[in-house]
Amino acid sequence: MAAPKLELRPLGNTGLKVSSVGFGASPLGSVFGPVSESDAVASVREAFRLGINFFDTSPYYGGTLSEKMLGKGLKALGVPRNEYIVSTKCGRYREGFDFSAERVTKSIDESLERLQLDFVDIFQCHDIEFGSLDQIVNETIPALQKLKDAGKIRFIGITGLPLDIFTYVLDRVPPGTVDVILSYCHYSINDSTLEDLLPYLKSKGVGVISASPLAMGLLTELGPPDWHPASPKLKSACQAAAAYCKEKGKNISKIAMQYSLSNKDISSVLVGMNSVKQVEENVASATELALFGKDQETLYEVEAILKPVKNQTWPSGIQRS
Ligand code: NAD
Repeated sequence: MAAPKLELRPLGNTGLKVSSVGFGASPLGSVFGPVSESDAVASVREAFRLGINFFDTSPYYGGTLSEKMLGKGLKALGVPRNEYIVSTKCGRYREGFDFSAERVTKSIDESLERLQLDFVDIFQCHDIEFGSLDQIVNETIPALQKLKDAGKIRFIGITGLPLDIFTYVLDRVPPGTVDVILSYCHYSINDSTLEDLLPYLKSKGVGVISASPLAMGLLTELGPPDWHPASPKLKSACQAAAAYCKEKGKNISKIAMQYSLSNKDISSVLVGMNSVKQVEENVASATELALFGKDQETLYEVEAILKPVKNQTWPSGIQRS
């Protein structure tokens, strides 16, 4: 039987159709360990060949390295620009945060040059909980609207960890101004709190991208990088779940990908990838899910191991009362 094609899902009201598995390019900035240019380019090409049409990066990842690597990979595809969707971000840089109109307006030109593109499809304010949310509403988003009018970006997004930042901004901007939100580490086996926000986002016509289905490495056999902000208790519970799966001849990353992909109100599950092997495994998780459904038995067992830490997260950004 031929493997089914990777599903395309509508992204809110944008008219874009994104692949259910999206390519997270932060690892191309060597954020999770060194990655060669040839591996980066090969990963992007394999992803596109297997039906991934959505690629996400940021100037912050690897201090601009991820954007440069992704740009090289996309160029190597040699296909018309309308066949892939690119998202990058503004406001977060290696040097720190700056969501001023002046900085984000300059930022798009820098990103386009690194990506070797004339426009990006989605331009997102990166980790807004580290800035003033009122500045995002009153200054940053209006600046991005001008970039939209200038044809440098097609759609506007906001990203961050705490979920209440999304309602704060969306409740204060005119409808249709923010097209997309990117949430991370809130729709994976250990933390599914994004679920409660989905009806609200749907009612606003906002596209939902859910990143980090592997909880930034917690739900992998290799485990998370040193900088991972989870508590020791959460880390060890995830490690125990990964070890349990391995013993059973299962792969925790596949169980985790399939868990995140199962909710169709999420347009794209953005997973960070830095090798052809990972691309192939993650696409296979999606196509096997379409053919055979979830491995419900192993999922229940993993959920039981993770129950004591379910929905445990970590602080991020300026702490507001
Ligand atoms: P993730 O949960 O996708 O995990 C990535 C890690 O898992 C990497 O070490 C990767 O090499 C590894 N991995 C990938 N596939 C694997 C497989 N099949 N088996 C074993 N290991 C595998 O976390 P992430 O990369 O942080 O998130 C995905 C993407 O989402 C990022 O690359 C980025 O584009 C985006 N993101 C955005 C924000 C934000 O805007 N604030 C935050 C987090 C992530």
